[in-house]
Amino acid sequence: MRINVTRSSMPPMAEYVEEIRDLWDSHWLTNNGQKVLRLRDELRAYLGCPEVELFTNGHLALEALVRSMGLKGEVITTPFTFASTTHALVRCGLEPVFGDVRREDCTLDPDGLESLITERTCAILPVHVYGRLCDAERIQQIADRHGIPVIYDAAHAFGVRKGGVPAAALGYASMFSFHATKVFNTIEGGAVTTADPALAQRLALEKNFGIANAESTPAVGGNAKMNEFQAAMGLCNMRHLQEEIAGRKAVYEHYEQLLRGVQGVRLLDAQEDVESNYAYLPVFFDHQAVRDRVCDALAREDVFARKYFYPLVSDFECYQGRAGFDSARTPVAKALADTVLTLPLYPGLAPEDVEHIAQVVRREAARG
Ligand SMILES: *Cc1c(COP(=O)(O)O)cnc(C)c1O
Repeated sequence: MRINVTRSSMPPMAEYVEEIRDLWDSHWLTNNGQKVLRLRDELRAYLGCPEVELFTNGHLALEALVRSMGLKGEVITTPFTFASTTHALVRCGLEPVFGDVRREDCTLDPDGLESLITERTCAILPVHVYGRLCDAERIQQIADRHGIPVIYDAAHAFGVRKGGVPAAALGYASMFSFHATKVFNTIEGGAVTTADPALAQRLALEKNFGIANAESTPAVGGNAKMNEFQAAMGLCNMRHLQEEIAGRKAVYEHYEQLLRGVQGVRLLDAQEDVESNYAYLPVFFDHQAVRDRVCDALAREDVFARKYFYPLVSDFECYQGRAGFDSARTPVAKALADTVLTLPLYPGLAPEDVEHIAQVVRREAARG
């Protein structure tokens, strides 16, 4: 049977049916319905952030954040991420400036960050890639010295905490994705978290045509609201979140037993004092050719690992020839992208499948 890199978590069908039943009484399907409001309250508590604005997906949440802040000019960010991070900036008329990442956790490197700041820099947008937290303390210090806000792409960091501090408490604001493939899903969905109520208000306008009330439209907003069926999925999945993360942890630890310390295979180390969500299992090989061979060998066994994140965003054909989009400027990110493979990881992935996958990885890596 085909094994994909992930499998969307779903509640028991009866539970979802029960959750959506009252929508047939209210006939209220979107526009701040009861379920969206309930999910927002639950997420405020869980993510540990006073303001949570829900969106129809994470990408539009990020675009709304950028627009709501009125950013203009250059934004320092990482090329080692999903297309969405960079596209959101470019689609909003901003200029990404790419900093390199750290080999040990793939996040934006605070060393060298300050040298990228110019008088046109309006924000820093790091990514907690694979759920690994950025060095928020050092990044914030640099940003504060220059009076620049830090906003995080926290799409991978749902539920991650460091020393008890939740990811959502870092920086001025964060975007979370609740896409079907993420640790927590609302089918499609996303949120912006912030402690600034004024920003939350602008985000609420941004996702609903700029309409404040029946007779007042103070902003030229778009439409990016979460609907009641999405929120219902979220309410159900929240009830199973602890099992979800525990199930991922078990599979993750099984892979670690089989792969950590194996010659030619590098796993990322656990981050000190960090409560992980076990979102992804990236492994790094010595050369691109080995990575490609492992990926092909797995595919022949009907196992579809993914090269997250290859190619680097700065190498996308849509950005060819664009000033500043040159992966040679971020050699560490380029080396990581060229050698990474993200293995299948989801609760309930059978131990014998994990063993089989690890065996193929070890066999192909050993051929050098
Ligand atoms: C998933 C993801 C997004 C976009 O989220 P969607 O909910 O799919 O729109 C943005 N950034 C990163 C790093 C992601 O992985």
